[in-house]
Amino acid sequence: MRNGRDKRRVKGVPREVELARIKEETSRKRRRRIVGWVASIGLLTTLATATLPNVITRIKDPIKAEQTVRISFEEALNNPNLRQTYLRQVADPLIKDVEQEFDAQGFIGRIVYDPNFEILEETSKKGLRKFAGDPKKEAYFRSTLRSIEEAREDREFGHLGQTFLPSTEACKRNPSDIHIGNLTFERAIVASEEDLKAIFDHELFHGVVYFRGMPIKKGLVNLNPKKDASMINPELISICDEVLAYHRELGLIEKGVRRVSSLFRQRTIATYNDFYLRLKAFTEVNNGSPEATFARGVLGSLEYHPGPRR
Ligand SMILES: [Zn+2]
Repeated sequence: MRNGRDKRRVKGVPREVELARIKEETSRKRRRRIVGWVASIGLLTTLATATLPNVITRIKDPIKAEQTVRISFEEALNNPNLRQTYLRQVADPLIKDVEQEFDAQGFIGRIVYDPNFEILEETSKKGLRKFAGDPKKEAYFRSTLRSIEEAREDREFGHLGQTFLPSTEACKRNPSDIHIGNLTFERAIVASEEDLKAIFDHELFHGVVYFRGMPIKKGLVNLNPKKDASMINPELISICDEVLAYHRELGLIEKGVRRVSSLFRQRTIATYNDFYLRLKAFTEVNNGSPEATFARGVLGSLEYHPGPRR
């Protein structure tokens, strides 16, 4: 099993050699020199004070050390100053994989630790002022503000992350930013790094959709993008967006790629089912509208359905 201590080992150094070096390196002189350097790297200062003996073992050459310092989930939980760096550390390899899988190079811009989504709120309000009079852009910033409100109101099932498209121009290969709130660092809600990765699976999928559109099985949708798309109600679009993101997240959990805690899995299934039923209601309107056709197209593309498989 991996644990925090093992993760901190210098790559390629056997544990016995490392232990021998720990003993060797406790001389006062050495300690003073290293502490001076650690203190100079800003964000890691608090980590250094908290776990000084460990830090000493892994710092021999400052340049090499920079490559091997990894923040653990526990450390990020205990120290808010480490969270921004930690989130980027967890997200980067996942972003690379998704870029390859969906041919989406450059689909993510910033990963922002945004405790109560104040940064995103400010950005959206600025956007509203800047693009006043542009109904499409205004609608986008308003929906972001609504989503922030929901996240603040519903601690258990609200959004833990928010994917935001600064350009507001979807499907034009523009990068999205991902904002992660502080509920993500409450153990009752997110129990492990695996749970956090599942949150990123979800948010990254929003990013893919904003970058290149919704993946819908061919042949299921026969819509005229210019004429019909404008007739689709924005509520349905946002339901589809969530259904697809939860579907991706749940898919990786069910395949065993993400070994999330059971509570996290239950919450994901409950939220997925909720959005799924709202989507299904749109498919049950038999008026031949582009909306019903679009909803059926999305529903027909899903692999996971609530209850017994259809
Ligand atoms: Zn979402």
